[in-house]
Amino acid sequence: MKMESVLIWRLLPLLTLIASTLIFFYAQNFNKLPLDKCSLLPYHHYWISSKRIVTPEGVVSGAVEIKEGKIVSIVKEDSKHGNFKQEVVDYGEAVVMPGLIDVHVHLDDPGRTEWEGFLSGTRAAAAGGITMLVDMPLNNDPSTVSKETLELKLEAIKKRIYVDVGFWGGLIPDNAFNTSALEGLLSAGVLGLKSFMCPSGINDFPMTNITHIKEGLSVLAKYRRPLLVHAEVQQDSENYLDSDDPRAYSTYLKTRSPLWEEAAIRELLKVTKDTRVGGPAQGAHLHVVHLSDSSSSLDLIKEAKTSGDSITVETCPHYLAFSADEIQDGDTRFKCSPPIRDAANKEKLWEALLEGHIDLLSSDHSPTLPELKLLSEGDFMKAWGGISSLQFVLPVTWSYGLKYGVTLDQLALWWSKKPAMLVGQESKGVIAVGNHADIVVWEPDVDFDLNDDYPVYLKHPSISAYMGRRLSGKVLATFVRGNLVYKEGNRAPAACGVPVLAK
Ligand SMILES: [Zn+2]
Repeated sequence: MKMESVLIWRLLPLLTLIASTLIFFYAQNFNKLPLDKCSLLPYHHYWISSKRIVTPEGVVSGAVEIKEGKIVSIVKEDSKHGNFKQEVVDYGEAVVMPGLIDVHVHLDDPGRTEWEGFLSGTRAAAAGGITMLVDMPLNNDPSTVSKETLELKLEAIKKRIYVDVGFWGGLIPDNAFNTSALEGLLSAGVLGLKSFMCPSGINDFPMTNITHIKEGLSVLAKYRRPLLVHAEVQQDSENYLDSDDPRAYSTYLKTRSPLWEEAAIRELLKVTKDTRVGGPAQGAHLHVVHLSDSSSSLDLIKEAKTSGDSITVETCPHYLAFSADEIQDGDTRFKCSPPIRDAANKEKLWEALLEGHIDLLSSDHSPTLPELKLLSEGDFMKAWGGISSLQFVLPVTWSYGLKYGVTLDQLALWWSKKPAMLVGQESKGVIAVGNHADIVVWEPDVDFDLNDDYPVYLKHPSISAYMGRRLSGKVLATFVRGNLVYKEGNRAPAACGVPVLAK
């Protein structure tokens, strides 16, 4: 017994040494262990370096340190030498920018996955540098207008989203006066509500009037979440006549004049005054989606902002890229509502965006089956309205913005920071210490043709209005919470995006 215990005491230092050596090697190699399947990069702790990193303090040369999905430090060029103990992914001159947050997307899932679906939709988003999107409550079937229908969506996203996904709930006449139903939906985590002031085209998503909207705002005030409104109210003045050519874009355009938008916004401003400080709906916020009319409608919104109403407005790349005179008769890929208007209207939209009167951008990606787009008949009056664009919004905004002198900081403001604020995500939208490592890396100077050879991940590339265009700005890599989910045509093996629910 005595001899044995002496032996153990002699061996103990040796065993300790062996154990500590093993722990040391394990710790050294920990960062090199392959991550499950969520990332194309096998590191938990690494740096992204570039000469052009878009931060709130401007564009800097240096590196972003990422650990366990978060940004833990940002170092400028001068101070970085010799500091890197971990792996470095060097992107040279490519731009490192916060990932895009697209607050207006229709992925049609569950119920109409043949139109798009979470799998192809979020894969396209990842390929386009979008790290979070917010799915609209309609075009999926059933519409997301209750806690129960939101649960169907939460079921549908399981293992099927490559980027983070949040949800809007629907405000419809059925739930507008049912406070407990609306509270159930909001408590279940929708980031806010969405309603229509004209027919939505979806049977179980009827339009709301201003009384419904007022009710919705009063419930949202408690939750401090926004109401998004499709602001068009049908006007009698300009009807479609039998003598009009349904293949002519001008026919469609005249049926939805800017007066529709103006009338809706006039109505809305009667209730947004309640959102002012001290008002009965203080805490609620109204967000006008996809503004097309850059004249009276925009002036009204500007006035409301000046008066202290809690109101913001978005427009979409298709209103900034295209104008009515370029749309060929029969080319229903360009049909959307409100419609794409004339070139002068487009110029004014750009002006308003650059001056900050338009707060942010969104895709309003709204695909359908090619059959429903009626591409061969070219009937604008009967075709499904909606522009398919999700994968292309970054290069489109950049390409068409070049002549207006758009900067990288502006892109990050319109596509990341402001959208993050709208959806209440303080840990997203900006490259800053403590935030999620949601990052897009892209080459502003690389041009490409969006032709049949280009890898498009949307379910139905043929219906996209951008096919056939030449664009600038190629996405190289997309990181979602530190996972490299997309890299030059390759995607991570597993879809590890997470639902973003309001608390
Ligand atoms: Zn929409």
